Amino acid sequence: MSADGLPPLRDVIARHGLAAKKSLGQNFLLDLNLTAKIARAAGDLAGATVIEVGPGPGGLTRALLMAGAARVIAVERDERCLDALAAVAAHYPGRLEVIGGDALETDFAALVASRAAGQATVRIVANLPYNIGTELLVRWLTPAAWPPYYASMTLMFQREVAERIVAAPGDKSYGRLGVLAGWRSEARIAFDVPPQAFTPPPKVTSSVVHLTPRAEPLAVDVAVLARVTEAAFGQRRKMLRQSLKPLGGEALLARVGIDGTRRAETLSVAEFVALARAL
Ligand code: SAM
Repeated sequence: MSADGLPPLRDVIARHGLAAKKSLGQNFLLDLNLTAKIARAAGDLAGATVIEVGPGPGGLTRALLMAGAARVIAVERDERCLDALAAVAAHYPGRLEVIGGDALETDFAALVASRAAGQATVRIVANLPYNIGTELLVRWLTPAAWPPYYASMTLMFQREVAERIVAAPGDKSYGRLGVLAGWRSEARIAFDVPPQAFTPPPKVTSSVVHLTPRAEPLAVDVAVLARVTEAAFGQRRKMLRQSLKPLGGEALLARVGIDGTRRAETLSVAEFVALARAL
């Protein structure tokens, strides 16, 4: 038995035939010390409602429950995992709800609202399937209503994606994702996780990223901000007067007092917001 009185994850995987499927981005974490570390990186979970995407055999889920989460709502697409997760739910009565389905088709804000979690702190914590990680992050960062329903997001990404999320102006990874994340959140890499920590090991190092929503991000239409960053970083080696030509080029830049000979990677988030507002 493991520390939580449930079988070790290797036994769970063997018993339920959960051989990892690449198509579902399945790289499992079987070390409960590591999943506990991710749960700690999420902050205080006592009394919190946690949204988890892709619980798989339940390693991180168990760590979240052991860390005191009042409630975990987990969305898992792989039906093979549901029996194994039902055993975890039985071990923590009333605290784990597993929804079989696709996270990309889940309205998480509505899900939280329908569970009357309104009073509880909501945190999103997940070892994300890499193929949909960026898409989910962008959706969580771009709802029309702000501040969002969640107090933080603690998410596993490939190291290279994590670097793009936390990048600042001048960093070689700075681009559209960094502007979006920097606009609406404070993001930092909590720690790296080597490939051998996963079963099966992925090819690259991963990182856990912790994001806290900004209470009052600069006001701008997110779609317009996306148009500006797409144009600017689409031709990142060019001067802005060239890359932003389709959006007004020099005239647009002059309106916000930005030198047209600068390049996208030198612009702060506030300058991108100013350009989007001027559009
Ligand atoms: N949380 C487990 C862990 O840490 O060991 C598993 C993490 S594994 C990287 C990603 C998980 O996401 C898998 O269990 C996979 O089946 C699930 N998954 C993949 N695509 C999904 C989707 N569209 N919606 C919900 N879950 C998905």
